[in-house]
Amino acid sequence: MSRFLKEQYKDMEPYTPGEQPKVEGLIKLNTNENPYPPSPEVNSILDSDGIRKLVRYPDPQAAELISAIAEFYGVETSQVAVGNGSDEILAFIYMAFGRKIYYPAISYGFYPVFAKTFMCECEAVPLTDDLRIDPDDYKGLDGTIIIANPNAPTGIALSREDIRGILEANKENLVVIDEAYVDFGAESSVPLLDEYDNLVIVQTYSKSRSLAGARIGLALACEDVITDINKMKFSFNPYNLDRLAIMTGVAAIRDRKYFEECCSRVIKTREWFTAELKRLGFEVLPSKANFVFAKNDRMPGKEYFTKLRENAILVRHFDKDPISDYVRITIGLDEEMKKFIEVTEKILCG
Ligand code: PMP
Repeated sequence: MSRFLKEQYKDMEPYTPGEQPKVEGLIKLNTNENPYPPSPEVNSILDSDGIRKLVRYPDPQAAELISAIAEFYGVETSQVAVGNGSDEILAFIYMAFGRKIYYPAISYGFYPVFAKTFMCECEAVPLTDDLRIDPDDYKGLDGTIIIANPNAPTGIALSREDIRGILEANKENLVVIDEAYVDFGAESSVPLLDEYDNLVIVQTYSKSRSLAGARIGLALACEDVITDINKMKFSFNPYNLDRLAIMTGVAAIRDRKYFEECCSRVIKTREWFTAELKRLGFEVLPSKANFVFAKNDRMPGKEYFTKLRENAILVRHFDKDPISDYVRITIGLDEEMKKFIEVTEKILCG
């Protein structure tokens, strides 16, 4: 730390992203990326014409991408904003609306970090003993609410009616539903957009659209809220999506068939994998995401994580109560998950 750092950041704990290993040959199931490649429609983007165009700044409005997203979700273009990953969208939301933030105590690790970055008051709302979000805990609050649905790292989803209840009980608060993992079987709140001007939905291309490396996130909300989000964007980084990301985002979202196929393959693998883990005696939370959160009573979470790593399998472990015995396992290819089960049998049963 230099002596120049602002006082408010001296004790800030930054967010720790999951490891992106430099070595080849690992089965990488630690950061919830998609095991399938991006839509084949994306392939033509890096041709010589695409490269030549990089001499110019990208469209700061990202109009073509906004139109394609609006078309996909059946909303107006004025109801869409885009960001450099959904992390940036979340940052804009904190900048614009973060008076006080309420978020689930076990959820995406960035929520409290952003609060510190943007100097918002924040309060963690405990989960139930069985690691669920109780919608009643979010009723009648006095600040902006952020809920990941499905939640991470648990994978457990709320229904659209649960979200409606939270929106109804918070007419004067903004309710942000982070749908990073919604495409893997949960109910999206997109159909509620017309009814609630206090709803913001955040989504990402990083998971269901196989484009974590392209950094594309989006917000869907009423026109006034989108205007405020864009006010932040244009006061911070107007060219937040580069040309390649804009073109990639357009091509990928137009390929609905490929997207749906990839999601159903991941879901199918998740269901098979969950049954296999249960067969081995694991407790597996009911996941609607592209990962599962599981624990066994034969080995502490940290030790199991380390043993998997020794066997070239990378998962995510959170060394904090009450989830330190769980590991979060991203759903990979069928053959990767089969290998995972073989290795786990070896680790636990000898
Ligand atoms: N929300 C949740 C719940 C996440 O797990 C993540 C990714 N780790 C993000 C948002 C951010 O994703 P990205 O910035 O890649 O869009």
